[in-house]
Amino acid sequence: MEVMKVQQMSHHVVFILLAATVRSQVNPEMCRYPLGMTGGQIQDEDISASSQWSESTAARFGRLDLDNGDGDGAWCPDIMSEPDGLKEYLQVDLRSLYFITLVGTQGRHADGMGNEFAQRYRIKYSRDGSSWVEWQDRKGRQVIEGNRNAYDVVLKDLEPPIIARFVRFMPVTDHSMIVCMRVELYGCEWLDGLMSYSIPDGHQMIYRGLDVYFNDSVYDGASAERLTKGLGQLTDGTWGLDDFLHSHIYGMWPGYDYVGWNNKSLPKGYVEMIFEFDHVRNFTSMKVHCNNMFSRGVRMFRQATCYFRSGSDWEADPVTFRPNVDRTSQNARFVTVSLGDRTASAIKCRFHFSDLWMLFSEVAFQSGSAVYNTSLTPRKHGHPTNTLPGEDPTHKVDDSNTRILIGCLVAIIAILLVIIVIILWRQVWQKMLEKASRRLLDNELTARLAVQTQAFSSLHSSLSSESDSTTNSTYERIFPLCSDYQEPSRLIRKLPEFAQSTEHLGLSTSCRALASSGADGAPHYAEADIISLQESSDSYSITAVNMNLFAGTDSSMREFPRHKLTFKEKLGEGQFGEVHLCEAEGMQDFLDEDLSIEGNNESPLLVAVKTLREDANKNARNDFLKEIRIMSRLRDPNIVRLLAVCVDTDPLCMITEYMENGDLNQFLCMLRLKEAADEDKTEPEEKEGESMVSYSKLIGMAVQIASGMKYLSSLNFVHRDLATRNCLVGKNYTIKIADFGMSRNLYRGDYYRIQGRAVLPIRWMSWESILLGKFTMASDVWAFGVTLWEILTLCKKQPYSQLSDEQVIENTGEFFRDQGKQVYLPKPPRCPDGVYNDLMLSCWRRNAKQRPSFQEIHTQLMESLP
Ligand code: AMP
Repeated sequence: MEVMKVQQMSHHVVFILLAATVRSQVNPEMCRYPLGMTGGQIQDEDISASSQWSESTAARFGRLDLDNGDGDGAWCPDIMSEPDGLKEYLQVDLRSLYFITLVGTQGRHADGMGNEFAQRYRIKYSRDGSSWVEWQDRKGRQVIEGNRNAYDVVLKDLEPPIIARFVRFMPVTDHSMIVCMRVELYGCEWLDGLMSYSIPDGHQMIYRGLDVYFNDSVYDGASAERLTKGLGQLTDGTWGLDDFLHSHIYGMWPGYDYVGWNNKSLPKGYVEMIFEFDHVRNFTSMKVHCNNMFSRGVRMFRQATCYFRSGSDWEADPVTFRPNVDRTSQNARFVTVSLGDRTASAIKCRFHFSDLWMLFSEVAFQSGSAVYNTSLTPRKHGHPTNTLPGEDPTHKVDDSNTRILIGCLVAIIAILLVIIVIILWRQVWQKMLEKASRRLLDNELTARLAVQTQAFSSLHSSLSSESDSTTNSTYERIFPLCSDYQEPSRLIRKLPEFAQSTEHLGLSTSCRALASSGADGAPHYAEADIISLQESSDSYSITAVNMNLFAGTDSSMREFPRHKLTFKEKLGEGQFGEVHLCEAEGMQDFLDEDLSIEGNNESPLLVAVKTLREDANKNARNDFLKEIRIMSRLRDPNIVRLLAVCVDTDPLCMITEYMENGDLNQFLCMLRLKEAADEDKTEPEEKEGESMVSYSKLIGMAVQIASGMKYLSSLNFVHRDLATRNCLVGKNYTIKIADFGMSRNLYRGDYYRIQGRAVLPIRWMSWESILLGKFTMASDVWAFGVTLWEILTLCKKQPYSQLSDEQVIENTGEFFRDQGKQVYLPKPPRCPDGVYNDLMLSCWRRNAKQRPSFQEIHTQLMESLP
């Protein structure tokens, strides 16, 4: 608290001092202050967006969070409303013009529950709110590399900086990628008030056979005969060097720093520049940074004649200024043109040549009592701060002013140093506390779990010799939960650190697995008590039931006429309701060209129709719509394709391609593995009513799942519930991943609840998903390892079938402790050592970073194909 207060106070002091200095000088080196997304100075109403995924991901949540709180709250666009996802934006209105030098972005992790971030983004900006400019760097690149994970803040220098009031962050996304952003802008107020300048574009010089370009390469307005309505190099805060052939910006062409004109190309003998300002101002002077390398035909201007305009016409009496001619120094310099306190909203100046070339790199204005200048201190190379670099030493700035400025700067630096020390001290202190508490927790965990060791060793032996005790895995989804469910035990709370550090562990805080099923009839999902989540759910829960789901025009989301569906049979039952096989009349018109459904030119087409049960509450309805959104964006041969929807009236339906052989779990359950000797024998694969499958076919299925997951991971999309039960089988052993029910859970409050409990597939979940609530691509990889195990054991048993749910959670504790006591799923029969050791076990590595990627898994499996 104390520290916070000190920090707040020093913030205020800095602010007051800054206000004083900013009014007199803007220094681009220092011009890197957060503009108020983090600190709250930017109001909610000034943050808007093109769309939002849900109420809980509205624009106002897009504030960068430096304290890295719970990582929840971010702006996430509705990927549906813009088919190519490229026009989605988060907009910040700064209320006045700012010189912006830096941007920061961050993703959304929500303490491990979220994994959304923008890997790349673009920036658009506007000074007036109507004409928008796409920012590009000095080499013309528009896309900025953003975040690589959901946690870290990534800061990017804007080179060149921008002068704007409105800024838009536009994530560059694949069509189906869910992105979330939190942002901050850094800079300082743009007190010049200059909205645009108009100049003839610069010319090209050939100096000793070298092409030297003096064009205004970062001008952001229109360019025809003259450059108009924009700002550019003359206001980018960067000055040219004495030798115009060199630039202090690495890798740029000769002449880059300057905008320059050739006397011969402008027969009037002068360059006319028009400066437009935000409002009428009282101008004292103008500073022009000029090159003066007369040995190469370049000299500062001979005369400047400036006209003023407050209304519609230029006033008749201009101000004329003739600087002293410098025949000795070839230094580049600021030349101050006195403007005689004239009032104007526009100034037109004619700069007369005194040699063959005239080169400018910066122009700044002083109006009222302030010295409005972005260029008073150099950006890249150092000069003493009490004289202006490049300026004729005889032309000194007002000394008293300078002293005040220096005084203020020193004060600011001192205060900043104090703040940095306080922040560092705070961080070190926090780290020490964390370490200490972790050590405590670890010790306690070690002590408590040691008690369970005995139980585990017997468990270990029972597992490794997996007996034939039939577990009779009831492959019955537990979602339409009924009385089968028993009281949940306090499993995770038995692991000490997860019992105690509830506040910051998200799901783990309250995750209580179901100790119900034990060896027989064990369900795939275990319940997690989310009572504490419910308490906080109000702020996260999605309220927008009537989302404008079809705002975009995506053909895959087209409404299908319900009366053209003819019910054939019930295929199964899921979390939302029943799944039916139907004939769809005229469905061909709804199919994309790329969609190859066998016999898709037959009419009517067989389709699977998933219906939301009539008594579904608002949350289930929202979830159903979200699953539609997610699925509509996924296009891969190994992902089940959504064909159309019926959402105009109730009951809501999603129509997907029909997979003739149902889900992979049931499908494999009915098969037997061919003997190795029979591998090469071709059909018939039927033997006494029992179908046979070869090992290579099984690996072929795993390859397809890995391929589908590779696609999802390329979209940074975490499935969260990969298992054979969630894969469907079509003709010729085609496998497609389905069931995106879990992946839609953007917010912890969205966890599917049955009587207040979240349901989790603990036997497929990584240790960090169970204990820390952390779902990532790497936890999908873990689940893939379990799925591969299921495939190679033909789903004859549930993973860890000998273990009760309670023991599964205990085993998770062993993975966490990593003392060699954790139990792994055993090597399936016929599974080569290479596949088990190098692939399956690598999916269950404790360190998520050491698990393979789906790309690697896919390659490895392909290579293992016999
Ligand atoms: P779900 O609600 O997605 O879990 O589906 C419930 C069950 O319906 C699955 O386990 C499958 O047996 C069946 N099913 C779902 N979608 C399809 C489909 N596209 N083709 C064939 N069967 C399906």
